[in-house]
Amino acid sequence: MENKHKFSIWYVLLGIWVVLIIQSYIASMFAVQVIPYSQFLGMLKEGKVTEVAVTANQIEGKMKVDGAAAETKAFRTVRVDPELSKLLDQYKIIFKGEIESTFLRDLLSWVLPILLFVGIWYYMIQRMGSQQAGFMTLGKNKAKIYMQDELNVTFNDVAGVDEAKQELMEVIEFLKTPAKFTELGGKIPKGILLVGPPGTGKTMLAKAVAGESGVPFFSISGSEFVEMFVGMGAARVRDLFEQAKKRAPCIIFIDELDALGKARGFGTFGGHDEREQTLNQLLVEMDGFDTKVGVILMAATNRPEILDPALLRPGRFDRHVLVDRPDKQGRKEILQVHMKKIKIGPDVDLDLLANMTPGMVGADLANLVNEAALLAVRRDKKEVGLAEFEEAVERIIAGLEKKNRLINPRERETVAYHEMGHAIVALSLPGTDPVQKISIIPRGISALGYTMQVPTEDRFLMTKTELLNKIASLLGGRAAEAIIFNDISTGAHNDLARATDIAKSMIREYGMSKRLGQVYLSPDKRPQFLDVGRREGGDYSEATSEMIDQEIREVISGEYNRATQILQSRKDILVRGALLLLEKEKIEGSEIQALMA
Ligand code: ADP
Ligand code: ZN
Repeated sequence: MENKHKFSIWYVLLGIWVVLIIQSYIASMFAVQVIPYSQFLGMLKEGKVTEVAVTANQIEGKMKVDGAAAETKAFRTVRVDPELSKLLDQYKIIFKGEIESTFLRDLLSWVLPILLFVGIWYYMIQRMGSQQAGFMTLGKNKAKIYMQDELNVTFNDVAGVDEAKQELMEVIEFLKTPAKFTELGGKIPKGILLVGPPGTGKTMLAKAVAGESGVPFFSISGSEFVEMFVGMGAARVRDLFEQAKKRAPCIIFIDELDALGKARGFGTFGGHDEREQTLNQLLVEMDGFDTKVGVILMAATNRPEILDPALLRPGRFDRHVLVDRPDKQGRKEILQVHMKKIKIGPDVDLDLLANMTPGMVGADLANLVNEAALLAVRRDKKEVGLAEFEEAVERIIAGLEKKNRLINPRERETVAYHEMGHAIVALSLPGTDPVQKISIIPRGISALGYTMQVPTEDRFLMTKTELLNKIASLLGGRAAEAIIFNDISTGAHNDLARATDIAKSMIREYGMSKRLGQVYLSPDKRPQFLDVGRREGGDYSEATSEMIDQEIREVISGEYNRATQILQSRKDILVRGALLLLEKEKIEGSEIQALMA
């Protein structure tokens, strides 16, 4: 592009030159002899001039040619002031008039527009060029490269994932002293797959491995590989590996590997050709390099089950590291890491906070600490106290309080009875999570009220009775509405969804149905929207499928009846509780227990 453009400028110059040559040639064809004014005067005296045409500045005319009487010759001279010319003539000085040279001016009037034109043209080319260049570099890499000094994430920053850290120690050792390992002929995994729910710190772990071993860190998301144009993603993979090899030892980290590595042939929507090509290229690159080079590939996914099996074969992502949700101890450690950055009040009890946050992952806990800090700022506090943390937990679980949202009194009443229904059923049944708080202040986008039940400990197993009790308390809200108002509302739709999910799992996964027995009736784990043309559900007959439906219905209706019975027998508590709730908007678990007693 650059070359061609220079070439064109030469063309323009050449053109100008040719025009000038032609001009002078034409001028010489009509050759006019330019003579000094003194000569003109002389010829005039000698009678050689035959005719003249006088203009303001010059005199043109014809003169006789010496020797040939009939022939004349055109001449031109520039006029000189007549008085002066007389004087000059007296002293026989050769003198001539000269018209001020306009050459420079003419040149400028030519050259300036040309320059301007060339300038504009150059600018346009440049702009187009940069656009075109952007187009051309699509295949180039968007991977962010973090050098070791800007990473500054260490293992100390990632808490509550000790097992994962232990597994990654070996990789760090290798990256620190690759020679030691290769001398011994040790084999280092090429690809390490970090598997775990979102926000558990997979990205952080990968960065920490780079940080601890002091090597560059290439980070790219699987979704960034999949380009609009076929072939671009593959080019990008190639480019990424080339860059990485130059900087070895280093780590390549692919976030959201599932976006790129979905099993091939999954789903028939357009655009998967491109993904396939990109995935193939990734496989080729992975097979093509030797760990001796010192490039370690790390990837993260929260859906390992949909990955293409080819990715998981030996020599590829064959090392899997589980990064699970933190347990209570883990949550404490994570909270500690994030609390280091803020000023904490003396009343903050880590143990209590860890108890209040089961199921939360590292990202949630980081967010929690941040929310609490923001609340403290808003309340003009010097340090973040327990009250702020509690409020932040509620916010994260149930969304922001929307005190100003207008709800008509009848709706408020419905919500109060509904929430009270959940609480009373839960408190009447053993093995349900204790009720911590009931509120009818609207929160979040759609919750009009909520009953906060928080487990006292992490649970890994649940019994059938506990599951049934849970379903009953979920249905308690609707049951209360039916008892009090003889009508039901749409407010229970989330409860119904959750209750149905539990019932489904009990029957299909946990073998908790008498009629179906101890079988696992695989609910299809793969995302259903990808299953074009596949029958939903697992490998069982229509009859079984029908039976499953019936069983789910039976469980739900059985539990609904149980909830209704409980509430009928404690209708007075239901009414008193609801009235209290309408008055106070928010009641604590202890108050409800007092009411029940
Ligand atoms: P993932 O990659 O698993 O989705 P990230 O590594 O992106 O999760 O974590 C997001 C944020 O959550 C981090 O920046 C960090 O602040 C916080 N976080 C997550 N897990 C942890 C952890 N184990 N320890 C400390 N902070 C964590
Ligand atoms: Zn409800």
